[in-house]
Amino acid sequence: MTRPTNTAQISLAQPNIGPLEVELVNQVLSSDTLAMGSFTRLFEDGIAELVGRRFAVACSSGTAGLHMSVRGLGIGPGDEVITTPFSFVASSNCVLYEGATVRFVDIEETTLGLDPSQVRAAVNDNTAAIIAVDVFGNPCRLTDLEEIARLRDLVLIEDSCEALGSLLDGRALGSFGNASVFAFYPNKQITTGEGGMVVTDDAELARNLRSMRNQGRDEDGTWLRHVQLGYNYRIDELSAALGVAQLRRREEMRRARAQVAAAYDRLLAPYKWVKRPVPAVGATVDWFVYVLQFGPEVDRDRLVTQLERREIPTRPYFSPIHLQPFYRREFGFSPGDYPVTERVAASTLAVPFSSRMTNEMVDHVVDAIASCVAEQGAA
Ligand SMILES: *Cc1c(COP(=O)(O)O)cnc(C)c1O
Repeated sequence: MTRPTNTAQISLAQPNIGPLEVELVNQVLSSDTLAMGSFTRLFEDGIAELVGRRFAVACSSGTAGLHMSVRGLGIGPGDEVITTPFSFVASSNCVLYEGATVRFVDIEETTLGLDPSQVRAAVNDNTAAIIAVDVFGNPCRLTDLEEIARLRDLVLIEDSCEALGSLLDGRALGSFGNASVFAFYPNKQITTGEGGMVVTDDAELARNLRSMRNQGRDEDGTWLRHVQLGYNYRIDELSAALGVAQLRRREEMRRARAQVAAAYDRLLAPYKWVKRPVPAVGATVDWFVYVLQFGPEVDRDRLVTQLERREIPTRPYFSPIHLQPFYRREFGFSPGDYPVTERVAASTLAVPFSSRMTNEMVDHVVDAIASCVAEQGAA
């Protein structure tokens, strides 16, 4: 179980912080403006430009952005929202925050996103919205979902929290539907520590988002005048400065991640027992995580333990939302409810992936996976 020192400390994910980040955050620290300042606006303008949206509103997390989008688009009690159980829990919790009903629809195996034909079948008189998730940075069937939303007069929210920088037919993810949401937790393509951003072309929604994130103040921002129920979902200037620096270095980090993905692709290609992540048709993907799908001959859970013993962290990705203890208890979901989601979730594994991984590290991880699978007698 020894390994070369140059592959020490392989992490599942790793932020990439350089001198520019330190410099810009220091600028904030030596100013008197630690919140609601020019870095927040710069960060917003940068994201709006990158994804081609008219408005961007920064906030304290992706979850806060999803919540404000649901609320700002008028979704509430009595409304049903169609969304996917194969996601991070925030993409359906945001529906519950507003007292609306989550209507899960199963995924398709190709994109791991919502299956449009099942979405069509699930739409009824109470359906108010679709929340579509771009899983691992890969677009779901956004063009079809936009069409369904248009024909049935539904709100479409794109949870693009994992998809900053990915494209579908040349169009940026985060540019579909009424609003899209990005997240900047340290494992995402760019990070602000904690942070999020809602992007939209809807001026009225943008105005409302700015009010909601700021305690329900109106545009003139009079400090003790609150025109609606609001929240403190603001981002601070330190985080925004970090975001501005990361945005400037985005292309460099994207290229590094693409190289790591290509190395995995090349080294794993000979093995029949594993499926590598594949961009959707027409997509250019900047992967958020690199997720493998193992065939039935591999015991995925045993592989996790075997790799752990070799100090290689991995994580089953995702664990279905409908099978989380809270969702089972509250809504009575049980295994078998969403078979494609469950089958996929039982076979997937996120392996170490970041812009800071070296070729030696990727080599080491692939060697370890191959020898663990051989130990299982499956290779
Ligand atoms: C990261 C993520 C979010 C938001 O996460 P925060 O930690 O609140 O920033 C939402 N949806 C998906 C699919 C995510 O991966």
